Amino acid sequence: MEQHNQVFMSSPISKSAFIKAEQCLKHFYLYKNHPYLRDSLSKEKQFIFKRGTDVGIFAQKLFPGGVDVTEGEKRDQQLFAQKTKDLIANGTQTIYEATFIYDDLLVMVDILTKQDDKWVAYEVKSSLKITDTYVKDACFQFYVIKNCLPDLVDFNLLTLNPKYVLDGDLDISKLFKATSVMKDALKNLEYFAHKTHIAKLTLEQGKIPDIKIGTHCFQPYDCDFLGTCWKNTNDSSSVLTLGKLTKQAMFDLYDKGIKRIDEIDINTIHNKEVKIQVKAAIEQKEQINIEEVRNFVTHIEEPFCSLDIEVWMPAIPYYQSTKPFQQIPFLFSMISEEGGEVKTFSYFKPIEEDLRKEFLERILLVTKDFKSILMFDKSLEETVLNQLAELYPEYRNDITDLKKKIVDLAEPIRKGNYYHPDMKGNFTLKSIAPLVNQEAGFNNLDIQSGISAMYIYESLLEQNVIEGEHIKLQLMEYCEMDALITYQLLNYFRMKLN
Ligand code: SF4
Repeated sequence: MEQHNQVFMSSPISKSAFIKAEQCLKHFYLYKNHPYLRDSLSKEKQFIFKRGTDVGIFAQKLFPGGVDVTEGEKRDQQLFAQKTKDLIANGTQTIYEATFIYDDLLVMVDILTKQDDKWVAYEVKSSLKITDTYVKDACFQFYVIKNCLPDLVDFNLLTLNPKYVLDGDLDISKLFKATSVMKDALKNLEYFAHKTHIAKLTLEQGKIPDIKIGTHCFQPYDCDFLGTCWKNTNDSSSVLTLGKLTKQAMFDLYDKGIKRIDEIDINTIHNKEVKIQVKAAIEQKEQINIEEVRNFVTHIEEPFCSLDIEVWMPAIPYYQSTKPFQQIPFLFSMISEEGGEVKTFSYFKPIEEDLRKEFLERILLVTKDFKSILMFDKSLEETVLNQLAELYPEYRNDITDLKKKIVDLAEPIRKGNYYHPDMKGNFTLKSIAPLVNQEAGFNNLDIQSGISAMYIYESLLEQNVIEGEHIKLQLMEYCEMDALITYQLLNYFRMKLN
C-alpha cells in the first residue's frame, strides 16, 4: 500500500478516532489519513446510527429548554467548541451536543446540565445494557471534559430501562436509566493520557503501521477497513471464510501458515460442521449426508406451507403494554401450493395500530389446514408466538398446535448434513438462496435483511401515504422471498435425494 507522508494533527482526535486507536493503530491511522479507503456504510449500520441519533434527541426531553450547539451551524467542531465555551460563560443551564477540545482530543456529549451549581454530563445509548465499550467511551469523554470544565462532577450513561412498560402517556423519566461511570472515569485518567500519547506518536510516524489482520479486526466493532486489509482473504478457499469456528480458532490456523481450507488436515477436525466445509473444499463439491437428510425430510407431512415473520423492535415503546425493544410482529408471508401452482399470502400490519391480535388470528387461520409449517431458523418465529400466547392466553392451545407443526429447514445445514462450497462458511438462508433459486433471490430486492426490514418499517412513521405504499410493497416482497426460498429449499433437498 502507498505510504503517506507525515500528516499530523490536521484535526483533533475525536472519540470515534480514539476508539479506533484502541482497537488497532492501523485502523486509527487509516481513518485519520486515508478515509477514502473506508468500506461503504451498510444500510444496517446507517439505520443503527440513525436510531442512535433519534434516541439521543428524544432523551433531551429529560432536560428541556437546553441549547443545541450544532443547531443551525455548519459542521465545524472548532466552532461548536467555542459556542459551548460561550454558553457556559453566559450561564446556560443545559447544553445539547456540548463540544470540548483538550490536548488535540475532541469530544461531544449528548447532554450537559447544571445541577446544584455543578455540571453533570449524560451520554445516551440506544441500548438496554451497558457494555465495557460504552463505559470506556464515557471515561474518555469525561477525561477530555474534566480537563476543560473542572466543575464537572458526574458523568452518566443513559440507557433504556428494560423494565419500563408503556402504560398511558410515555413517562420519559422512567423510560431512561442513568448509570454513573465516575468510579471508572476517575481511575482511568492516566490511562487516557498515555493512550493519547501513543495515538499521536502513530500519526507522527507518517506511515501506515504494520499490523497484521487478527481477531482484533472485529473487536469491539467490525473495522471500517476490512475491504482494504482483508482483500486477499475473501476467496472462498481461505480458512478465514470458515463458518462455525471462533475467530480465534481461525487465526490459530492462519498464523500457523494454513491459509487455505484444503490445506487443513481433515483428521485433526472433530467438529462435524467444520469437517463438512473442509471436505467440500478438498473435493470441490457439495456434501450431503443422504441418510440424515432423508430422515429429516420424511418427517415432513403433507400438505405443508412455509412461513416467515418480520418483527419491529422500537427502542421507544410505541404501543400500550410494550417495553423498549420488544419484538412486535408486523408482517408474515406464507407460501403453499394448490393444483401445482405456488400461492402466496401476506398479512401486513399498519404501523399506526397495534393489531397483534388480528395478526395472530390471521396466522392461525391461514396455517390451520397444513400439517407441516416450514421455517428457516425458527427461533424468532417461536419467540413471537410465545409472546403472543402470553398476551392472548385464549389462543394458547392453538399456538401450541401451530408450534408442533413447525419444521426448521435450517436443521440439516446447521447440523452439518448439507454444505455447498458456494456458501462460503455462511449457514444462513441468504447464503443458500442462489443455489435453491438461481433466478429469483434477495440480490434484486431493495430490502435484503430482517434488520433493514425492521428499520424501513419504522420509517413509515415519517412517510406520506404514497411512500408508505411503496415501502409496504418492498417489505412484502422481502418477506415473500424469504418464505419462497424456504419452501423451495425442501424441493432442493428432495431433488438431492433422488
Ligand atoms: S482490518 Fe484489522 S488490521 Fe486492518 S486496520 Fe482494521 S483492525 Fe487493523
